[in-house]
Amino acid sequence: MTNKNLADLILPNITKTIDDLRREYPKREVEGEVTRVAPSPTGYFHIGGMYQTLIDNMIARNSNGVFYVRIEDTDSKRKVDDAVELIYDTLKNYDLMPNEYQEKDRIVGNYGPYVQSERKEIYQVFIKYLIEIGRAYPCFCSKDKLDEVRERQERYKQRTGYYGPYSTCRKLSIDEAYERVKNGENYIIRFKSKGNFDEKFRFDDLVKGRLLLPENDEDFVIMKADGLPTYHFAHLVDDYLMGTTIVVRGEEWISSLPKHVELFNTFGFDLPKYIHTPNIMKKDEETGKLRKISKRKDPEASMSYYKEHGYPTLAVIESLMTIINTNYEQWHTNNPEKSYLDFVYDPKKMSASGGLYDLDKLINISKTVISKMTKEELCEKAYDWACSYNEDLKELIDRDRDYFMNIINIERCQKKPRKDIAKYEDIVDNIWFMYDDLYESRDKDFDWQVINDKEEIKNILDTYMDKYFNIDDKDSWFNGVRDLTNELGYCANMKEYKEDPSKYKGSVADISTVLRVGLTSKSMSPDLYEIMRLLGKDRILKRYKNI
Ligand code: GLU
Repeated sequence: MTNKNLADLILPNITKTIDDLRREYPKREVEGEVTRVAPSPTGYFHIGGMYQTLIDNMIARNSNGVFYVRIEDTDSKRKVDDAVELIYDTLKNYDLMPNEYQEKDRIVGNYGPYVQSERKEIYQVFIKYLIEIGRAYPCFCSKDKLDEVRERQERYKQRTGYYGPYSTCRKLSIDEAYERVKNGENYIIRFKSKGNFDEKFRFDDLVKGRLLLPENDEDFVIMKADGLPTYHFAHLVDDYLMGTTIVVRGEEWISSLPKHVELFNTFGFDLPKYIHTPNIMKKDEETGKLRKISKRKDPEASMSYYKEHGYPTLAVIESLMTIINTNYEQWHTNNPEKSYLDFVYDPKKMSASGGLYDLDKLINISKTVISKMTKEELCEKAYDWACSYNEDLKELIDRDRDYFMNIINIERCQKKPRKDIAKYEDIVDNIWFMYDDLYESRDKDFDWQVINDKEEIKNILDTYMDKYFNIDDKDSWFNGVRDLTNELGYCANMKEYKEDPSKYKGSVADISTVLRVGLTSKSMSPDLYEIMRLLGKDRILKRYKNI
């Protein structure tokens, strides 16, 4: 019996060779880098995946290369319905669709299928080759047996794994392995390692820098019982055939690098370059210490969080950009009119130890992003969001789109625009008082501030409406407020007031606050003149009368 006989017995239908595949998927002729993101369809899009996608996308775009998506669905236990759709919906939403991908039955690109479960035969060509050259073998060890070995290794404080003396099936003769496969015993395929754990090798990661790693000596699994490859093997085959030049993936894969290096070397394939992205860190609310953002503890670890709360996609991207490259914020300040798409990603400017991500920062960025939108743009985006997530906002926009746009336009499109909305979810809370029905139905806590005597407030409001109300233009409005101030014994000039407050009942600021609170119940609001113009005399009168 030869290795070839064993390979034919295990994979009888595989007749293609690696050379055949190379002809089918020739080396790419592309000027720039080839990057990919390889999400698993688990029904959850982690913020770390988004941050890797941004890097992949930038590298490919900056270099005139190719960015593709490969769906890693070889773990059938973790597969969830509609998860692939969630991945593509998220990428579309963020305008990060790749150059090559496979969605439903549409394949875009010549290196597909881009879904691993559809590439079974391709992997098996490589597996068969390894069995033929004696570098892979069937392993019949049961789960119980492997558990028992692991427990023993742990008990004696040994490295766990299937290596050296523990790689029992490696020692089987070809004849015996052949017989056992033939007899229908369950098996998986393991790689036969030639490495020595005591030897170290150097590895240069584009972000992590030079690493010193032990050689792999584990006979790790490359093909599972269902005929699909493990991650390690799929990484080799796919990134080789699909021509990936830079692998961007999480730093949790560094410990598997020795396996990958040995696999690539065994086949004589060039290793791609790697960027192992540092974890996204956050400050723990309880301990105040930095820790990895966690799927279990932090809702903001999921991309769906941003969608549900109505953060503009650009704000999420900008906040991730600040942890992707340490010079991004400076660049952005120096080039306020440029888009993040103009920024050139540099792996050397990425912190190797982990970027600090915080929601307060996102909120600030988001306020700026929203403040720069035109009223039409904000209305459209908010409406799209509201259709799925906020019936109240949708209803307000449907009621009168122009009126809504006029409200959100207050202090917009000016040198220092107002920054009071961080997410679409905040809008109703910011503008409800501009709608009479909401104004009447809400429980209001009038925040009167300095002047809080009921009689005095009534007097200010009545005198204003009787004698000084004028919203023809901003100057007339302002003069009206000033004259009211003077008539009632308050000081219209803030400088004079501050010099000797005891001379006056209060200042023009106190009077404005009364006028503002009477309309909005809040002491802070957008421009009062604009609010008055939108409400109009009758509605203002009605509100003031009811105070
Ligand atoms: N499916 C792997 C993951 O989600 C991809 C790792 C890689 O990019 O190679 O972690």
